[in-house]
Amino acid sequence: MKKILIVATLLISNFLTCVALPDEGMWIPLLIGKYNIKLMQEKGFKLSAEDIYSVNHACMKDAVVLFGGGCTGEVISPEGLLITNHHCGYGQIQRLSSLEHDYLTNGYWAKSRDEEFACPGLFVTFLKRMEDVTAKVLNGITDGMDKDAHDRLISANSDEIRKSAVEGSGYSASIRPFYMGNQYFLMVYETFTDIRFIGAPPSAIGKFGDETDNWVWPRHTGDFSIFRIYAGKDNKPAVYAKENVPYKPLYHFTISLKGYKEGDFTMVFGFPGSTTEYMPSYYIDMVKNYINPKMIELRTKKIEIMRTAMNSDPLIRLQYSAKKSGLDNSWKRWIGENQGLERMKTIEKKQEFEKSLTEWINADPDRRSKYGNILPSYKTLYDKYREYSLVYSYTSDVFFNSGAEAAGFARNMISLARLYENNYDEAKINVIKDEMVNGAKGFFKNYDQATDKKLFVAVMTLYGENLDPKWQAPEYVRIKSLCKGNFQSLADKIYGTSVFTDEGRYTAFVKSFSKKSLARLNKDPLYLLSKSASEFISSNVRGELNRLSDEVQSLNKEYMTVQMEYDKERTFYPDANSTLRIAYGSVKGYDSRDGVRFKPYTTVKGIIEKDNPEIYDYAVPARLKELYRTGDFGRYAENGEMHVCFIADNHTTGGNSGSPVLNANGQLIGVNFDRAWEGVASDMSFNPEQSRNISLDIRYALFIIDKFAGAGYLLKEMTIVE
Ligand code: ASP
Repeated sequence: MKKILIVATLLISNFLTCVALPDEGMWIPLLIGKYNIKLMQEKGFKLSAEDIYSVNHACMKDAVVLFGGGCTGEVISPEGLLITNHHCGYGQIQRLSSLEHDYLTNGYWAKSRDEEFACPGLFVTFLKRMEDVTAKVLNGITDGMDKDAHDRLISANSDEIRKSAVEGSGYSASIRPFYMGNQYFLMVYETFTDIRFIGAPPSAIGKFGDETDNWVWPRHTGDFSIFRIYAGKDNKPAVYAKENVPYKPLYHFTISLKGYKEGDFTMVFGFPGSTTEYMPSYYIDMVKNYINPKMIELRTKKIEIMRTAMNSDPLIRLQYSAKKSGLDNSWKRWIGENQGLERMKTIEKKQEFEKSLTEWINADPDRRSKYGNILPSYKTLYDKYREYSLVYSYTSDVFFNSGAEAAGFARNMISLARLYENNYDEAKINVIKDEMVNGAKGFFKNYDQATDKKLFVAVMTLYGENLDPKWQAPEYVRIKSLCKGNFQSLADKIYGTSVFTDEGRYTAFVKSFSKKSLARLNKDPLYLLSKSASEFISSNVRGELNRLSDEVQSLNKEYMTVQMEYDKERTFYPDANSTLRIAYGSVKGYDSRDGVRFKPYTTVKGIIEKDNPEIYDYAVPARLKELYRTGDFGRYAENGEMHVCFIADNHTTGGNSGSPVLNANGQLIGVNFDRAWEGVASDMSFNPEQSRNISLDIRYALFIIDKFAGAGYLLKEMTIVE
């Protein structure tokens, strides 16, 4: 135990004594005072570490939320007003929309509190405090301890720490591993669940350029939406109730209309999701050469089908917009990632590093016995791991993630069928049936049979082509041979009659379901396919994949340790893990390619240049054109130009969407929403020359709210400095 603690302490002091390189890294707020603040101040930051993170007084961290579990948002008024990205609020806005009230296409602005819409299921989370609990988590752990006993003790210690951290407070707690499990932090959170939608611009602004411009600079997307946090009368989290009142935050950001210039300090404060900066070449090889190419091909097909259908019918556009956006986002990032990894020669560089590391390890018998096995073990593991990972991801994307949707949907029936097979209590079954019928409404609201049929044919064909038969679900193999691989003719036969492709048929089937219905269910090819894929993954893939992943993780922990011992001068920040982090740097353009240097900001002029009424994504609203023509930008313009977006070299990733972008005085100048194409591989390898985060200029958001939408009354509750 003592030895482990010494190692942990050594490691921690190593992490912390490293000199930070400028601009790369996602730093821990609790430690910013000790290890980053000087550098931040040298770069222009005018405030103190306590202004960023403190448990003693209100500070910036009290205005930053994890939005909906996957994005970031920030509080911008004493009345709980919250700004995040349009793409973060997208699912909510889509759910509130119908053809008659199409808030996605037309935008929406609540004119009074009564018009603020409840968003069931949406929640936001504040970090109340964090604490290094490494020693407490490792209490009782000894060298050579059996893995199960080790894991059990860590989990028992963690339970205890969590419990005592939140007792009687109404907060929740989580303990997260950092530096690949070499260090542990406790996070104490407060979560609000009554969140209401206030407004968003039309998609022609909030999603301007859509998938074509996604991940690309220069950018002109007004990617923001506004919500409000509601609380009980005691200002504490409360379930939705009409009488709830706007939340009074401890802190809200002041908004600056002063803008920025190239070289100015910027800081992003948010919840980056996941990065893998310290992984070996084998991991990059798996992602770049094995998984990404196959997943890109599959998604290209799915997206193409959805895009064509959406362009043909406004209802389908509404039904598939959120689903397609979800698919698009990673699909395009994978493409950019692969290009970036290729351009930076990341695999080769990692291999060179591994060679020198191995020489260094082998030069000392002690090191050799401790670390000599890590890289060879990775090699053996990844040969297998990559195969299981691909099968898992590919199968999920074919069946369960907006692939053959009716088949994915049919999976719900597995548990109902099981209840009947096991003679479960009829009254309880009826409750479940009601839930299924209700749940189906949400599914069919966003379902178009003809589109799904095309998706079915495409993904079934690709599944057969891209996965070795030994990795295909048995029912798929059987059906494929029956239909002789002609999935079109199979779809023609089944889509018109299956209970999973029509709400009426489905509802009637579920309502009248009895033991006798099992026979019909067991003849439905969509059900059989779904069940088979699901069972195949459970029985043949998931277990081994989890085992391999555990092994990779324990190697990662050792690999992190040895990298830090080897390279004491290097800056090590922990990989992103959906906890609150700070990235800092400055507003900066970049060289895109030979002869092309990008400026760090864009203006409305560029929107007008892209205007094309023929293309949905580039059809500029008439009102915006008019405001541009008359130059009516109010107090939001700079030297007559209306800025739209800007870039900086803050290290960000998915999850940072919606994060506040702050100036040297901690005032809000932007809302982070994306990264530039050339540097998008920054999740695995940050490139200071080209990795840039893209932010919406807050002045453009205010201009849209005020001048474009006429909702300027909202600005009255904000604190704005000119
Ligand atoms: N656009 C990204 C996202 O969707 C943000 C990023 O990865 O930089 O989360």
